[in-house]
Amino acid sequence: MTATRPDRQIPAKLLDWYDAKARALPWRALPGEPRPDPYRVWLSEIMLQQTTVAAVKPYFADFTARWPAVEALAAAPEEDVMAAWAGLGYYSRARNLVKAARAVADLGGFPDTEEGLRKLPGVGDYTAAAIAAIAFGRRAVVVDANVERVVARLFAIEQPLPAARKAIREAADTITPEERAGDFAQAMMDLGSRICTPRKPNCDACPLAGACAARGNDPERLPVKAPKKAKPVRQGRTYWIEREGHVWLVQRPPEGMLGGMRALPDDGWSARADGAGGAPMRGDWADAGAVRHTFTHFTIELTVLRLDGAAPDPAGDGLWWPLEKLKDAGLPTLFAKAARLAEAARERLL
Ligand code: SF4
Repeated sequence: MTATRPDRQIPAKLLDWYDAKARALPWRALPGEPRPDPYRVWLSEIMLQQTTVAAVKPYFADFTARWPAVEALAAAPEEDVMAAWAGLGYYSRARNLVKAARAVADLGGFPDTEEGLRKLPGVGDYTAAAIAAIAFGRRAVVVDANVERVVARLFAIEQPLPAARKAIREAADTITPEERAGDFAQAMMDLGSRICTPRKPNCDACPLAGACAARGNDPERLPVKAPKKAKPVRQGRTYWIEREGHVWLVQRPPEGMLGGMRALPDDGWSARADGAGGAPMRGDWADAGAVRHTFTHFTIELTVLRLDGAAPDPAGDGLWWPLEKLKDAGLPTLFAKAARLAEAARERLL
């Protein structure tokens, strides 16, 4: 079977299944309901990049309660948005979220074409296609990781990823209908997350089983993936400086890892190199242990050093943050882990 075989049965069968089984999600309009607000579609799609539905739901509820429309988000201070995003990861998404909200507010509304949407910061090919299809009913070929897997199996595309992406996209194009492209995209995503799962796909329950070229031929092996490269492990240090019920926090530079986020000071580690900078001040530093955290391209092992009763203030910009309000600081996960370790070590080290 080739990757270009059109099949009109596939969208019809899939949409019938979706009409009966669509997942109710906070950002989704169910079949037959009016199309969802583009703001909610865009926000959910940005949050869902690299993140699971379960992890996104509370953040989506919080964001839409605080900023119910794109204009409200556009008017929000960036540091508030960054703090609300803390824990969701991939923080460049939050910075782009604010930039895109401001661009949309300036435009007077969301662009309603893939081409227009792609011009917004943080909106790539997949997200533009998803918003165009789901919020505006445009015919768009929407291929995320779930759809990629379903299509690779349906058409038995044996070529390994990432080279297979072109063939997968062409195959997806042949089954994308003119009408209900948004429902079709969401149905493919649902099928991929609930039936055509990475491990043990449930082919017996699949509405597309009759048209699937991989069924009965170990579909689990598709899509074929190129072997993963080992991630480098970087070493760094971070500094917990405590004085009279406060801890010294800094704001990271706007560009680069965790850019613009509030954090503990550190020694300048990055994806490419171990930390090499010195401590922010002289003192009798105590070793509070180490935390390990994995990012997309590397793992960091961060040694946490603790200093109590610092005087005068450390060098550089920063602020003394009250310890009892530390959870409101919006520390990214790595530094929240380091903070927990430093606090747990207080009794032991004092
Ligand atoms: S029949 Fe099985 S492998 Fe094929 S699309 Fe359905 S669940 Fe996936």
